[in-house]
Amino acid sequence: MSNTPLRKGGPAARIAVLPGDGIGREVTPESIKVLRAAVKRPMDFVDLDWGADKFLREGVSLPPGAVEMLRDEFDAILFGALGDPRVPSNQHAADILLGLRFKLDLYVNARPVELLHDRLTPLSGRTERDIRIMVFRENTEGLYVGVGGIFKKGTPDEIALQEDLNTRKGVERIIRHAFAYARQHRLKRLCMSDKSNAMTFAHDLWQRVFKEVRQEYTDVDSRHLYIDTLAMEIVRDPSQFDVIVTCNLFGDIISDLGAQLGGGLGLAPSGNIHPGATSLFEPVHGSAPNIAGKGIANPLGSVLTSGMMLDFLGWPQEAALLKEAVRAALRENKVTPDLGGNLKTTEVGDWLAQYVSKNS
Ligand code: ATP
Repeated sequence: MSNTPLRKGGPAARIAVLPGDGIGREVTPESIKVLRAAVKRPMDFVDLDWGADKFLREGVSLPPGAVEMLRDEFDAILFGALGDPRVPSNQHAADILLGLRFKLDLYVNARPVELLHDRLTPLSGRTERDIRIMVFRENTEGLYVGVGGIFKKGTPDEIALQEDLNTRKGVERIIRHAFAYARQHRLKRLCMSDKSNAMTFAHDLWQRVFKEVRQEYTDVDSRHLYIDTLAMEIVRDPSQFDVIVTCNLFGDIISDLGAQLGGGLGLAPSGNIHPGATSLFEPVHGSAPNIAGKGIANPLGSVLTSGMMLDFLGWPQEAALLKEAVRAALRENKVTPDLGGNLKTTEVGDWLAQYVSKNS
């Protein structure tokens, strides 16, 4: 991840806060609470009300000029979640989240898989030391670009096409980012994963770029695994991986698998990053309509996400403090019911804020 300090608005870091829908609106304020307690440096938070309510009220998802405003006036976006049963098409979520990913060219999807307490992994016998992997998913290309079509829809002769778009530039920059991250963090083992034995055009490009770039990083021990082999190996022995880099679709799947190894959706953070430019940080979980409004959403994923944002802003000490606070909450069972605790969302936030105040 880039440590380049940005600062669009002078000395203060400018953060656009986009809680969105459902539990996004419950966990994001807890993150702000913890950030305010942990970070003594100047930070400006600006709330944005984009989400289902606005979409239903005004028909607006991503307002005109939004992308330019975020790009020019903000260092980072702290995102909650989007998705609401009143918008079955999920149109507003696609407009906002995919719109920002593509228009801000957030080509790095960083999804750390980290076990922060031994009791949380479903793998027996595994400990914190075994599960610490940074997964880099290509975030702007592949099968998610929406190129394709349907012919003869609804007939027995229907044809559906979905194109897998891979550019030399796109593949190279994500592979390069993964190697640079491994070197910067002194992580020895990098795995590039594809399906080049079956996807003989698209992933042949991944193979060729990987072989080229790895020659510049002989200090990193790099290897290749087909995605199906990776899926088996990551469950059999997660301790063999430090950094994984893969395409959009495989990254989506393997990082969710990883999220479960690290304790489940409520704990998993992510960053949508363009190094050196406005980037967006979001917990991996969605809006969870089934528990929204009950005050029991787990805010730890959002707090860890805020930690990733601090790292991105060039404040690793404060980032480490947030992670330490989450570890402490897990140790002392100051957690929500999904993790076996009995605290409310706001009580977890209060506990974390107190912890970081005492320890900062
Ligand atoms: P969306 O469609 O917005 O992705 P979803 O409910 O389909 O929402 P998630 O929100 O990702 O999917 O989560 C699936 C389930 O996991 C939720 O219904 C909820 O029970 C649980 N869950 C997810 N995040 C949390 C959290 N932060 N705290 C507690 N439970 C959670």
